[in-house]
Amino acid sequence: MKEALFYKKQDNNVVCEACYRNCFIQENQTGFCGVRKNIKGKLYSLVYNKPVAVHIDPIEKKPIFRYLEKTNTLSIGTMGCNFDCAFCQNYEISKIDQKEIFQEIITPETIVGLAKQNNCSSISYTYTEPTVFVEYALETMKLAKQNNLKNIWVTNGYMTDQVLEEISKYLDAVNVDLKGDKQFYLDVVNNIDLEKVKQNIKKIYKKGIHIEITNLLIEGYNTKKQQIEEIVEFIANISKEIPIHFTRCFPCYKLTNIKPTKIETIKQAKKIAEEKGLKHVFVGNV
Ligand code: SF4
Repeated sequence: MKEALFYKKQDNNVVCEACYRNCFIQENQTGFCGVRKNIKGKLYSLVYNKPVAVHIDPIEKKPIFRYLEKTNTLSIGTMGCNFDCAFCQNYEISKIDQKEIFQEIITPETIVGLAKQNNCSSISYTYTEPTVFVEYALETMKLAKQNNLKNIWVTNGYMTDQVLEEISKYLDAVNVDLKGDKQFYLDVVNNIDLEKVKQNIKKIYKKGIHIEITNLLIEGYNTKKQQIEEIVEFIANISKEIPIHFTRCFPCYKLTNIKPTKIETIKQAKKIAEEKGLKHVFVGNV
């Protein structure tokens, strides 16, 4: 276990400041993500050096299409997530019981060594939400930089300013999920403030970090023309050069009753984005 970086103490309780949930955590309890625990008045990461997935992927699988094209990236992720999306496509690792935390130690040195041995150009912090394993990600990112490797976050964009400022020092590219409108974030993602995600997207862009956006389309939930237009207009107002990926959703986790997103819906979203002037519009899972 590693003491967490982003929290404050309140007597024997702690407030986690890694993401905007800002969990108030009593002794022997974990925060919403299940992997940050108050032990005797200090907050600890339960997943430091404990990835549940380590894979070599084409960078396009993140998806990142307009940066380091046609290279491989070493992808890592631990258990736990600060969101509870009803449609989570990775729920086997994002939703956890603490007893299930993978116990094999894989240090940042090993991760960087694996990336170099396998001719990867970058390391991606992905699969679940890197904010919840930020201590492990940061150590790996620092070492990656020293070894001329790039760092990529695939994120829901709900990290606090403190986290964003710290990771920005070592971050080269990001894919942020922009999932739907305000009500969708409250109901389907589970009580999340969309404005915080949007503010972070703007901040990341202003910092000059390469950014791409993914919008997973769930038939009947976030596929109204108006919902897609809202996302597209938000991005276009920042820059029409920001790539967007519309991806298909399949029945999963709490949404087992849905149908896979229609190809026609994905095509319609692409058309809307192109009509609004976005220059790099892609589709995925089709
Ligand atoms: S990172 Fe986890 S513990 Fe910290 S505020 Fe977010 S959900 Fe809560």
